[in-house]
Amino acid sequence: MSTHTEPERPLSLAAPSGIDRAAHHRLDEAWLAAAWSHPTTRVFVVSGGQVLIDDTPDGGTAIVMTPAFEAPVTETHRYFLGTDEDGVRYFALQKDSLPGRMDQSARPAGLREAGLLLCPRDAGLMVHAVALENWQRMHRFCSRCGERTVVAAAGHIRRCPGCGAEHYPRTDPAVIMLVTDEQDRALLGRQVHWPEGRFSTLAGFVEPGESIEQSVIREVWEEAGVKVGTVEYVASQPWPFPYSLMLGFNARAVSSEITVDGEEIQEARWFSREDLRAAIEAGEVLPPSGISIAARLVELWYGQPLPKPATTL
Ligand SMILES: [Zn+2]
Repeated sequence: MSTHTEPERPLSLAAPSGIDRAAHHRLDEAWLAAAWSHPTTRVFVVSGGQVLIDDTPDGGTAIVMTPAFEAPVTETHRYFLGTDEDGVRYFALQKDSLPGRMDQSARPAGLREAGLLLCPRDAGLMVHAVALENWQRMHRFCSRCGERTVVAAAGHIRRCPGCGAEHYPRTDPAVIMLVTDEQDRALLGRQVHWPEGRFSTLAGFVEPGESIEQSVIREVWEEAGVKVGTVEYVASQPWPFPYSLMLGFNARAVSSEITVDGEEIQEARWFSREDLRAAIEAGEVLPPSGISIAARLVELWYGQPLPKPATTL
C-alpha cells in the first residue's frame, strides 16, 4: 500500500503566503492610488518571468523591493498583489526589463530558482505576479472581436474597448500523477525531449468536458497504455509556465503492461523503491527535483527524501 506520509515541508509555490489578495480593492482607483503612494508600500519589477532577488542579512533570500516613490511608474502595468498582516501593500510592475542590479549580490531569478529560496510570502507574491504577467502577455487582443484590450482591475482584468468584453486571467488545469501497481511499484516515464535517464511522473492537460479524475485515467492510458482504477487527490501547485494549475494525484493501476505512445512519452518503467534507489545511485536515473510537485509525489511514495543523484548524469 502507499506509504502516504505527510510532506515534511509545504510545496514552495503552494504554501500559505500570509498575503490577503484584497480583491475588493482592485476596482477602487482612489484606494489604489492612496495605497501606491503610501510610504510603507513595497514594489518590485517582474519581467519575462523573472524578478530581482538578493541575499538577506539573516542568510535568507528575498525579492528586491522598493518604496513606490523609487519605482518606475507605468500606470497600465501595475499589479496590486495584496496586503500582509502588518498592512503593507504590495505591487508588481511589469516592465520590459529588470532594473539595473542594485548591488553585487542582487540577481535576476525565475520561479524555478527563486521558488526554492524565497520565504512563503515572497514566493506567493512572485508566483502571483508571474502568472498575471504571462496571462497579460498572451492575451493582448480580444478573443471576441480582435481589438487590442486594456488592463483594468490593477492587472486582474483586460477590457475590450471595441465590444466591451471583460477578459479574466486564465488558469489551465493539468493533472500529474504517481501511478502505482499491486506491488506498490511506481510508474515513471521519460518524455521524448528529455535527456536519457530522466524520469518523472506522468502528466497532461485536462480536456474540455472532462473531470480531473477522467483526465488522470485518460492520460495514463494514452501515454503508457496502463489502465487506472482509483484516483486520489494529493495536492495542487500553481504552475505559471505559462498559466497552469498542477493537480497532483496518486493513482492505482489495474493493469501492468506498458505501451508508450512514443509521441509524448519515449519510455516508461515500473520502479520498486529499491529499483529507484539503485538506479539513482548508479547514475542511470535522474528523478524529478526542485519546486515541481512531481518531486513531492515521488518522495511521498518513496517515503523519505530521494537519494542524491549520481553526478554521472
Ligand atoms: Zn472585443
